[in-house]
Amino acid sequence: MTGEKKSVLILGGGLAGLTAAKRLADRGFEVRLLEKRDIFGGKVSSWKDEEGDWIESGTHCFFGAYDVLYDLLREIGSYHAVLWKDHRLTYTMSGGKDFTFNTWNLPSPLHLLPAIINNGYFTFGQMAAFSRSLIPLALQQRAYPPTQDHLTFAEWAEKKRFGSHLMDRMFRPMSLALKFIPPEEISAKIILDVTETFYRVPDASRMGFLKGAPSEYIHRPLVEHSRGKGAEFRTGASVEELLFDGTEIKGVQLTNGEILTADYYLAALPIHNLNRVLPEALKRHDRFFSDLDRLQGVPVISVQLWYDREITPVDNVLFSPDGVIPVYANLARTTPDYDTLRGEPFRGGSRLEFCVAPAAPLMQKMNDEIVAQVDRSVRDCYPASSAGAKILKSTVVRIPRSVYAPLPGMEQYRPTQQTPVGNLFLAGGFSQQLYYDSMGGAVMSANLAAEGVMKAAGVVEG
Ligand SMILES: Cc1cc2nc3c(=O)[nH]c(=O)nc-3n(C[C@H](O)[C@H](O)[C@H](O)COP(=O)(O)OP(=O)(O)OC[C@H]3O[C@@H](n4cnc5c(N)ncnc54)[C@H](O)[C@@H]3O)c2cc1C
Repeated sequence: MTGEKKSVLILGGGLAGLTAAKRLADRGFEVRLLEKRDIFGGKVSSWKDEEGDWIESGTHCFFGAYDVLYDLLREIGSYHAVLWKDHRLTYTMSGGKDFTFNTWNLPSPLHLLPAIINNGYFTFGQMAAFSRSLIPLALQQRAYPPTQDHLTFAEWAEKKRFGSHLMDRMFRPMSLALKFIPPEEISAKIILDVTETFYRVPDASRMGFLKGAPSEYIHRPLVEHSRGKGAEFRTGASVEELLFDGTEIKGVQLTNGEILTADYYLAALPIHNLNRVLPEALKRHDRFFSDLDRLQGVPVISVQLWYDREITPVDNVLFSPDGVIPVYANLARTTPDYDTLRGEPFRGGSRLEFCVAPAAPLMQKMNDEIVAQVDRSVRDCYPASSAGAKILKSTVVRIPRSVYAPLPGMEQYRPTQQTPVGNLFLAGGFSQQLYYDSMGGAVMSANLAAEGVMKAAGVVEG
């Protein structure tokens, strides 16, 4: 950047805020980032508990589709830490039954053939009925899902008549795994978008896991990189309110009363926190801001159970339509750095991590009750390997408002990164970009918001 350095204040140190900080520090901006917690990472944060084991806010799978995330990881020298798993999705069910969607190494859409003709569970007739329902998707491709945003996925499926079996066994856990809400609530657009991407891009549905903690392989390298370029990072700095003078943002007030100012402001907060820091004057100024109240976060619970024996050897993501564990993984297999119990190597056992959803009915329950329900689901899916197994340790993390809920009709309220106020920009999984509220979405939103700041500052052409 030539001339005087322009300053940017970034609110929120999740993946979106940290990415925006890097992008802007790399382009010569004077960057300060404020994070209210004492750790970075937000919904993908990780920390060590008092016994020396890593705990995460939740299991994080890396979809092959997230190119922007992998570009970022390559830039900070962390791409090596993504461990790609076999390209297959396994569903585990009551009574120890399971089925697997495999793929072949063929051009799209032939790569999906084994999933359709040889999954060992759904009949060819059921898969053919489902394939027929996707004809509009095949013909119109990315143009089709947005036309279905007025329906829930369950309503869309009802119209297409591909049967309740496929819906309950395959799509219910998929919907709960993606956004922690069931097919009766999620917009059809989301499932159709994901299906279209999986269909069009052969590697999009391949899953990876990080070798260890996101704080080690993503957040720390990002912060160190940006610090090297002069960026400042503050933890324990909670924003109370954006100060708006009727035309532009004049500053940010922290909960301790401090006021900070900059040329540009980039809010990378979860939607409910953003709504809290936007002043009423800004909401009255433009519907762009008042409409944000319509977006709400979904509750989810993350549970980890250490069993004294191997429950499943699968080194990959697992889904289950039965019980309360729609998506989970054996971290002792998928995530080598996590193969510990009380800080010591944990050989021969299983360390399972589950996203528990729908979580609303369980949110107020005691930890023991939640663990007991998850354990029942495990024993139901693995009657043989769990017989006599003991739980050696358990952890429960509740997130009352996690990703935004992509309900029907909500797409129109997802904001762009550029706002009607010239020096205010938004980033975060809820803002408009391809990948919804995900790690890929957080990075893409940050790239777009940082680009907006650069254009406003004349660093790149508008
Ligand atoms: C259990 C779980 C499992 C998930 N699994 C996956 C997965 O497998 N794959 C995937 O791609 N995505 C997954 N996600 C989604 C992914 O974690 C998020 O989409 C992504 O991390 C969002 O990043 P963000 O930066 O937009 O928001 P956040 O991570 O929410 O970051 C916002 C930051 O702002 C801070 N903040 C809030 N209020 C203030 C304030 N007033 N002042 C200062 N700072 C503030 C917060 O503390 C936080 O650090 C999962 C999410 C959860 C909860």
